[in-house]
Amino acid sequence: MAEKVSIIGAGIAGLSAGCYLQMNGFQTEIHELHTLPGGLCTGWERNGYTIDGCIHWLVGSRPGNNSLYNAWNELIDMKQLSIYDHEIFYRFEDEGNCIRFYNNIDRLESELLTKAPEDKLVIGDYISAARKFSKMNLPLGKPRELFTLADGIDALIRMGPYLGKLNKWSKVSIADFAARCKNPLLRKAMENLFVPEMAVVFPMITTAWMNNKTAGYPIGGSLKFSQLIEQRYLRLGGKINYHSRIKEIMTSDIKGSRQACGVITADGLEHKSDYVISAADGYSTIYEMLGGKYIDKKTDSFYKNELTFSSYLQLSLGIDHKIESEASSLIFPLTKPVRIDPANTISDISIRIHSFDPTLAPEGKTLLTALIPTREDEYWTNLRMNDYSKYKAEKERIIHEITEGMENRLGSLLPHLEMKDLSTPATVVRYTNNWKGSFEGWIMTPKVGFGQLPMQLPGLKNFYMAGQWISPGGGLPTALISGRGVAGLISKQRGKKFVTSVVNS
Ligand SMILES: Cc1cc2nc3c(=O)[nH]c(=O)nc-3n(C[C@H](O)[C@H](O)[C@H](O)COP(=O)(O)OP(=O)(O)OC[C@H]3O[C@@H](n4cnc5c(N)ncnc54)[C@H](O)[C@@H]3O)c2cc1C
Repeated sequence: MAEKVSIIGAGIAGLSAGCYLQMNGFQTEIHELHTLPGGLCTGWERNGYTIDGCIHWLVGSRPGNNSLYNAWNELIDMKQLSIYDHEIFYRFEDEGNCIRFYNNIDRLESELLTKAPEDKLVIGDYISAARKFSKMNLPLGKPRELFTLADGIDALIRMGPYLGKLNKWSKVSIADFAARCKNPLLRKAMENLFVPEMAVVFPMITTAWMNNKTAGYPIGGSLKFSQLIEQRYLRLGGKINYHSRIKEIMTSDIKGSRQACGVITADGLEHKSDYVISAADGYSTIYEMLGGKYIDKKTDSFYKNELTFSSYLQLSLGIDHKIESEASSLIFPLTKPVRIDPANTISDISIRIHSFDPTLAPEGKTLLTALIPTREDEYWTNLRMNDYSKYKAEKERIIHEITEGMENRLGSLLPHLEMKDLSTPATVVRYTNNWKGSFEGWIMTPKVGFGQLPMQLPGLKNFYMAGQWISPGGGLPTALISGRGVAGLISKQRGKKFVTSVVNS
């Protein structure tokens, strides 16, 4: 009989682990607390609009200089996806001026040099790194646990030409890189490339991928994307239990060693298995489901010292007409500052005009979304729990004030609103259980670099972790790779040759 694997979480990492284990003859069962697949890679319906809650860019969206496309093809028939490639990453506006951050490297260089000629050196550093990385063929990362000497040599040969720049720019944060700019508009535009604490190598590589058109957006949005992987998993014979929150990972002593042997749901149901994978939130897995009993120094130090991506509010508006815009992502000043929560008052807003995906809004209308970062997850969770009417009122106030604050730039909006929605960190925690409502796990800071956390914990056999909490930087590709990696590791430990198949093979 096939050995059984319990998987906690039907995010991209859990679904990916499930698919690859099914391909390798294991019997898997996923437990997911929500009623939908995808975890953070999600979307929701409101008044005829599909609010997209995740994908800005999908690395490996097309064949090219990366092996990720081939891996996605093992989960989804990528040829069936329609991919949209943006011309402009974002348009940054301030005091009547703008900088267009083009995805084409040549156009980007010319735009930046025209707008900030005094920053020729900084621009040169960014552009030459992005150009170099655009030739890089990233190997499909294997987990550290499976790395052989041959893999090491192969990686060195492939990555050798890029190591200098990778090393240099992974040690500089976006904030420090931006601080070198003399031109205030360019400085602000650079600061907004991603979170300021992140190593600048990350946006440099992203620009390279965008330039190569291998990081596009799948039309239909994030939930549809997750559902395609869910369908693949079910067709491979996997089983998913939705509404199944795991509160404990069962362990037992077998021949003198402690090993995972199943999971217990919040309702007290026991599900026995030979292996357990947690592709769910890292903090609750280690410190709650396993009671903090199995932990290595590196992992413990991460949870005590390293920086997580913040949580966020997502404002979504349905506007009853088309909003035309040169760029779908815009950052611009609000007419007046808006207080978000005790620690945050914003004076700029970063929005997406989703007209590039006609499936998200009724014809002739526009879905607009804005992400507002905050680390006030506890404030939002407590407010929702202890004073629900104030929570609702605060949401209404923020929706109103931000919408009004955007009218100077986008024209009249309030009379044209036919859908409004604001999710908060309390929403993120409720539906995904991510620690501090984080949107992507650990920030790849200069200190953390390309480091990974182990997939296995000391003193506990047959237990594995996958997903964004073991892969700093997070993202969909790392979720895919770590799910694939954990399946490879279990197969290897069982003495099985790891096999994969593409969707339509
Ligand atoms: C707004 C936003 C934009 C993003 N944009 C991009 C982008 O453009 N490109 C990109 O690559 N990445 C992007 N990301 C990041 C990416 O979505 C995540 O890094 C990735 O989806 C993480 O996948 P995961 O499977 O590791 O974790 P998750 O998606 O968090 O999945 C974990 C799953 O486990 C479940 N779970 C948790 N605890 C339990 C429990 N106790 N019992 C049962 N189930 C449990 C959760 O409900 C969840 O479904 C974005 C994220 C956000 C929020």
